[in-house]
Amino acid sequence: MTPLVKGKAAQAAPVVFCCFLIIILLIAIKVFSPPGPGTVTLTVPGSSDFSSPSSEARLRVLGSGFYTVTAYCPCEKCCGKWADGITASGHKIQAKDLIVAAPPGMPFGTVLEIPGYGRCRVQDRGGAIKGNRLDVLFATHQEALNWGVQELMVWEVE
Ligand SMILES: [Zn+2]
Repeated sequence: MTPLVKGKAAQAAPVVFCCFLIIILLIAIKVFSPPGPGTVTLTVPGSSDFSSPSSEARLRVLGSGFYTVTAYCPCEKCCGKWADGITASGHKIQAKDLIVAAPPGMPFGTVLEIPGYGRCRVQDRGGAIKGNRLDVLFATHQEALNWGVQELMVWEVE
């Protein structure tokens, strides 16, 4: 009987060694693998999976963070009697302008970074633009419709 017991003990040693190696391997994979997309948080300016505010400018999260961002164009459907191509600040709208209509508490000229839209200036107001609402300007009505309504984290550029 003794040789059998001895044999079992001799077999157990390599099995334990293999388990040990597998554990070491798993730890090594966890430590050295690059971080997955889930580890990048939305609050880090300049993170690659978030429409990138550049890191040189000083940015701070606007207000409580998330804004409901709608879109408009200079047409009559969007602006009614104000469809004269001139913003509330008196700016004459040009084709490629990036302009945002903001609530009355935000001064004209404030520079914002809106993910998916870009760096824009507060140059307009709107009757429905209150609280956590912003309205971004597009050159055409179709582009404004394409934007739809988006809940976005917005930065103020200082
Ligand atoms: Zn329009």
